[in-house]
Amino acid sequence: MATVTAPRRPAAPKIHQTQLFIDGQWTPARSGKTFETINPATEEVIAQVAEGDAADVELAVRAARKAFDDGPWPRMNARERGRIILRLADLIEEEIEELAALESLDNGKPVSDARAGDIPLALDCLRYYAGWADKIHGQTIPINGNYFCYTRREPVGVAGQIIPWNFPILMVAWKWGPALAAGCTIVMKPAEQTPLTALRLARLAQKAGVPDGVINVVTGFGPTAGAAIVNHPGIDKVAFTGSGETAQIIMRQAAGQLKRLTFELGGKSPNIVFADADLDAAAAGAHVGIYLNQGQCCCAGSRLFVEDTIHDAFVARVVEGSRQRRVGDPFDPGTHQGPQVDKAQFDKIMGYIEAGKKEGATCATGGKRVGDRGFFIEPTVFTNVKDEMAIAREEIFGPVLSVLKFSDMDELIRRANATTFGLAAAVWTRDVAKAHDVARRLRAGTVWVNCYDVFDAAAPFGGFKQSGFGRELGERGLEPYLETKTVTVSLDQPRA
Ligand code: ADP
Repeated sequence: MATVTAPRRPAAPKIHQTQLFIDGQWTPARSGKTFETINPATEEVIAQVAEGDAADVELAVRAARKAFDDGPWPRMNARERGRIILRLADLIEEEIEELAALESLDNGKPVSDARAGDIPLALDCLRYYAGWADKIHGQTIPINGNYFCYTRREPVGVAGQIIPWNFPILMVAWKWGPALAAGCTIVMKPAEQTPLTALRLARLAQKAGVPDGVINVVTGFGPTAGAAIVNHPGIDKVAFTGSGETAQIIMRQAAGQLKRLTFELGGKSPNIVFADADLDAAAAGAHVGIYLNQGQCCCAGSRLFVEDTIHDAFVARVVEGSRQRRVGDPFDPGTHQGPQVDKAQFDKIMGYIEAGKKEGATCATGGKRVGDRGFFIEPTVFTNVKDEMAIAREEIFGPVLSVLKFSDMDELIRRANATTFGLAAAVWTRDVAKAHDVARRLRAGTVWVNCYDVFDAAAPFGGFKQSGFGRELGERGLEPYLETKTVTVSLDQPRA
């Protein structure tokens, strides 16, 4: 008789790197300062990490500048660059268990999610862009007159990359993949909540053969280390993923140097369920949409629009499913939902739950803290939500779903689009024509039809409106790391 063994609980990972990675060297911050990174499941300190600031960014930019201006990276055979990126992906894959555990420890996400989701997607992204390295080429252009005109695609230079804490490894891959393929060099600042895996990946990049100075990682805080990256004249381009408020600060600061910017920001994405949908799939999709990564997704389907004729029965299903979700230890392979990343996020989400109740929405399930240690919040569903309530307008970034009822198509589209954001949307229906019609009318960078959170390295991702500009992933994701140079050659014979 077959016996069922419980899935193995991963061992606590070793912490190898806690210092800054500059010019291929591990170094403490110039100031000697460190900061604590916390395990959000236990509130215990995991490690002291070097607190970089402007002085360290100065050294990192110098190294990246030298590597770009004089080093081998932008000059080597493009196919060799691709091979090194592929080797980095292979080294990450070799350490997948260890990296998944480290990601889970620092961020709180279930280790099974990191293992099956974040890291495979990161590998896919690196391998996809490795393939681009030797396929970046210009055009020949038939201009008027006796000229030969062609374009060259050249790397933009030193890229400053500032990333958030919700998908630490994946965000590194989204940023490094296209930058490395293009031949750029990098100064990266991971989020202060989750610095550990980016440092580990820097070590693996070095092992893979990325030359010194090409990737520099400065851990530290936004207003010091982050701002120093944005302000430094040696940085040619800033790629930022995070909040709209921070993006505004970055834009103002970068204005003085007309720095190239790409932003991937927040959202309040509509997830629309029509009465003719496969309701089992739609209910599962509603859960993925809001609960993936503890609700800490910029593309979370946080506004669930449900057609009136199925509203009550469908919502009952979503509520029941929410109650079944197991919240707890992210290292337990059976856990669906871990803690929020830190106390600030926990407090912000609990504030929105209170606001929802005060504004008159019905808290159909959840709404409370789980346990008294760690930043755990119950999967929460609000019904009777009105469009003007804060929980229907503002990004909560937690496991809190707002359900809205609709009856008329034009009214639905107007309400779905009545937001300053435009990152993602989804529609659930069996009617093909309706699906494409709604996909066309929604003002969002990604529209999923009968699915949610389907990502692929080849498919561009990014926002309309205040959800950002520029795209990541796919061919579009390479563009921000390239300049176009036009070369025009006279074909007139030089006079003797
Ligand atoms: P969140 O609210 O999700 O933490 P933030 O936009 O504050 O989002 O943070 C995203 C990233 O931006 C983090 O790495 C953070 O340290 C960095 N950051 C925050 N403030 C600034 C700033 N003024 N300049 C540059 N980077 C910043």
